[in-house]
Formats: sequence, structure tokens, C-alpha cells
Amino acid sequence: MTELTSKIPAQFAFSQSSLQDYADCPRRFHLRYLNKLLYPAAESEPALENERRQQEGQSFHRLAQQYLLGIPADKLERLANSPNLQRWWENFYSFRQKSLTGLTGLYPEITLSAPLGDFRLVAKYDLIAITEDEKIVIYDWKTYRKRPRDEWLSTRWQTRVYRALLVAAGAQLNGGRPVDPERCEMVYWFANYPDDVARFPYDGAQYKRDWDALVKLTEEIRTAASYPLTEDRQMCAYCTYRSYCDRGIQAGDLDVIEAEMEAEALFDVNFEQIGEIEF
Ligand code: SF4
Repeated sequence: MTELTSKIPAQFAFSQSSLQDYADCPRRFHLRYLNKLLYPAAESEPALENERRQQEGQSFHRLAQQYLLGIPADKLERLANSPNLQRWWENFYSFRQKSLTGLTGLYPEITLSAPLGDFRLVAKYDLIAITEDEKIVIYDWKTYRKRPRDEWLSTRWQTRVYRALLVAAGAQLNGGRPVDPERCEMVYWFANYPDDVARFPYDGAQYKRDWDALVKLTEEIRTAASYPLTEDRQMCAYCTYRSYCDRGIQAGDLDVIEAEMEAEALFDVNFEQIGEIEF
């Protein structure tokens, strides 16, 4: 059995994924981020279907990024080589023409980071756009099959971290001026539901609440005496560490995930884990 460490390295960079993992299961955070334990169990069955969806999600993000960087649409549409990708690409192309207009700044795949207590907070954004009236809008592309509820999205660490970090570290995008939380907004765009975006405006009170919560949570993680296994065993059915944790061998069923859980986040494109997209 691998010897595990519980020590958080100096300058550890927290992200929305690592914080969400800690919130979902402290042991998962411990195994994945402190010990970098790679465990090959499939997250869900059928494993090939899961893998295909992950790959399609990554390919879509690559197409969107390249298009926003200025590569002509006719060169990219040939790369949309599956029915899902074709549909997502067409939806995204229309969305770009209709809704991403009148912008004075467009920053696809940008990374921001800021100190957070003894640590750092980092996030890689699909797109940050500056509007003519000087609003700063965070866009995140989701290829979920099911449109999650706004209430669920609003509690995700992604929604909280992305907006808070934009305020803390976004001055470079705002002509060097501090970012006013009231002028920030986060928008989730769903490739399968292109006209049904989820919008999350922001304000100073929310920013203070989020930043205080981030400081408190990272301090809790730093001083944790242990990283217990989650009591919500449903989490384990879709976790790669379940045989390591003795929480079962059989992967959860994809159809059950969709029917019972708002666990589409399993299929999020996680840039921290797949590394940089290469062209
Ligand atoms: S299998 Fe369960 S207890 Fe173990 S890391 Fe995953 S979610 Fe946590």
C-alpha cells in the first residue's frame, strides 16, 4: 500500500475542482491532490461511453477556444466529426454570432491566480469577455446531457471561485483598475441547451461571503487532523478510488447518474487533470 502524506505543500494552488472534491469527500481530496494517487477504476459504466463523452467534451472546448482565437469557422467545422460535436459546434457558432457581440475584450482560456492565506487560488476560464458598458462576463461551456438546476449551479465551488477570483485578480483585464463585483457576472452556456443559459450576477456582499468562505475552508483543510471518507456512499459509486477505499468494485451506471443525481459534473472537462490543450 502506498504511504500517504497529509501535508499540504507551501504555495499549494487550490482550484474549484480541488475545493469541490474536498466538499464532496475529504478523502478524495487527500488522495487526488495531496498524494496524487492515480487509480484506474472507471468512474461509471459503461466505461467506454464515459470516456467517449469526456473526449467529446474536450474536443468541443478545443473547437470553441480555436474559434475564439480567430481560426476561421470553415476550417474548424470539419473537425466536428461526431453527431454531438456537430450539433454543439453549430449551437456555439450561432451563440457566438448572436450573443458574443459588442465586446471590447475577449480572453479565451485565460488563467487567473491570487494569494489565498498561505496558499494560492487559481482558475482557468473558458472565456472572460469585456462588454462595451464595461461589464466583465465569465463564460463557461458545459456539454451536459441534462440541464442542471440554477440552484445547484449556484452552490458549486466553480460559481463561487470563478467570480471571487475575477474580483481579486482581474485588474489586468480592467485597464489596471480594481474589479467592481457589481460589474461581474458568470454565465454557463449549455451546448445541448444553447438558448437556456444560467446567469449569476455578483455583488460586494457575495464577494465578501465567498472570499471569507474560501479562507475558512482552506484553513480547515490546512489544519485537518484527518481526511474522512464521505458518508454519502452514492458519491463512491462514481469515484475512481472506490476499490482503494473499499467502497465497492462496480462502477455506477451512467443512466442512473442522470436519473438520480445532478452529477453531470463528473463529465466536466477538467483542465487540471487533462493538462493544457495542445494544438
Ligand atoms: S470512494 Fe468514496 S470515500 Fe473513497 S475517495 Fe471516493 S468518494 Fe471518497
